[in-house]
Amino acid sequence: MDVLKKVPIKEQDPSVRVRNFDEVCLGYDIDEAVAEANRCIQCKNPKCVKGCPVSIDIPGFISEVVNKDINEAFQIINKYSALPAICGRVCPQESQCEQVCIRGIKGDPVSIGKLERYVADWARENKIRPKAPDKKNGIKVAIIGSGPAGLTCAREMAELGYDVTIFEALHEPGGVLVYGIPEFRLPKEEVVRPEIDNVKAMGVKIETNVIVGKSVTIDELMDEEGFKAVFIGTGAGLPNFMGIPGENANGVFSANEYLTRSNLMKAFDDSYDTPIITGNKVAVVGGGNVAMDAARTAKRLGADVTVVYRRSEAELPARTEEVHHAKEEGIHFQLLTNPKEILVDENGWVKGMTCVRMELGQEDSSGRRRPVEVENSEFVIELDSVIMSLGTSPNPLIASTTNGLKNNKYGCIVADETTGATSREGVFAGGDAVTGSATVILAMGAGKAAAEAMDKYLKNIQV
Ligand SMILES: Cc1cc2nc3c(=O)[nH]c(=O)nc-3n(C[C@H](O)[C@H](O)[C@H](O)COP(=O)(O)OP(=O)(O)OC[C@H]3O[C@@H](n4cnc5c(N)ncnc54)[C@H](O)[C@@H]3O)c2cc1C
Ligand code: SF4
Repeated sequence: MDVLKKVPIKEQDPSVRVRNFDEVCLGYDIDEAVAEANRCIQCKNPKCVKGCPVSIDIPGFISEVVNKDINEAFQIINKYSALPAICGRVCPQESQCEQVCIRGIKGDPVSIGKLERYVADWARENKIRPKAPDKKNGIKVAIIGSGPAGLTCAREMAELGYDVTIFEALHEPGGVLVYGIPEFRLPKEEVVRPEIDNVKAMGVKIETNVIVGKSVTIDELMDEEGFKAVFIGTGAGLPNFMGIPGENANGVFSANEYLTRSNLMKAFDDSYDTPIITGNKVAVVGGGNVAMDAARTAKRLGADVTVVYRRSEAELPARTEEVHHAKEEGIHFQLLTNPKEILVDENGWVKGMTCVRMELGQEDSSGRRRPVEVENSEFVIELDSVIMSLGTSPNPLIASTTNGLKNNKYGCIVADETTGATSREGVFAGGDAVTGSATVILAMGAGKAAAEAMDKYLKNIQV
């Protein structure tokens, strides 16, 4: 074995997986996990821990994998993270713990994410469940939204003995984990549901189909229903559009709608009666993880798919692994290309898209080179569907229905960076609702920090 290289991970063959929604990555077995764990040199000052937004004791759990004591490895991870099987699959480890792993100075960093996934899957398969605390303090706290921010805050508060209820607008808990990220990256029944069940096993109640701001307001929860503190983790689910002609045509979707129909409403499964127009020729506009997910979903639904992105490959915001998988699956890329108009037929359906070529000019305020149109470079792509994946913003409903709650010009709730405290006393917030669209682990980190601050606040007011 070459100690400088990661133990390779098994994956479904691209020619097979483009015809199914099963998970692409197949994970390590025990021998592979132990071999990979042995690559960790157990640093005295482990940089990987500082690179992890929830500070998991990474060398600690890895050393238990070396000992083949996977139960103990799980107990270590479980102290820090409520959703390890999810994080092991979707966290951008390459820009967090693995980016700073000492092993990475010469050779590949330790495959921390794949080891976390191995341990969490083992615990699930062996029915290891976290236990609810023996003592409860009877103080009611409400969590709005059941994405990673809300689930993490809920679990931390339950562990501290609070009486926790999550209110979720959709009929399924999980946020983007269930409606956004596709089955082939994150299986819902096998992986997401059991981790949510682990949060429930801590005593957390989840009420679905409750839109806070419509069904009930935060003011009512606090003034009439006895909740002493509230955490808002409502995410950023409002899709952005370009504002170009033809965007209202039939066959134009936001990536959010497209993925929700596929993931939550199971449009890919013939036994469900909630189908989606699959399209023969589909363009996905955008270059982030969401764009890759939409493109790979459309491919699996049978379309010929092109990603249209206005900068070059080096600036693609999606994870390298996702771009690599998309390419392996036969997704085409039209880079340095920007849509100008969606062309519509006489029945109101998409028939193509006029685009223009771009080149990279001077750096803008984000430090990236600004794309500039190349004169007289217009061309038409023939299409029957377009999926817009241009980022999302928080929904303004909560801010507009809660007295004293401030949001900023982007619609994000204004909250203290370290505590999540908002402008309204007793109300905390975190995750995408505060930062705009970010990552699962950052949302979890915010949920955890807010729980600590809520606990301090509640102890101070001596409810
Ligand atoms: C398609 C896609 C792929 C992604 N891939 C990755 C990835 O690979 N890795 C990664 O780290 N991140 C990824 N992300 C980003 C990541 O999923 C989010 O940053 C993360 O889920 C944010 O968590 P959250 O808890 O803040 O919000 P969300 O996950 O959005 O959860 C918010 C929840 O609040 C509910 N809600 C909203 N309003 C109300 C209301 N008024 N009342 C009650 N409930 C309400 C929503 O229904 C939702 O369930 C992806 C995002 C998308 C869309
Ligand atoms: S930095 Fe890398 S090698 Fe060092 S303890 Fe963390 S995982 Fe192990």
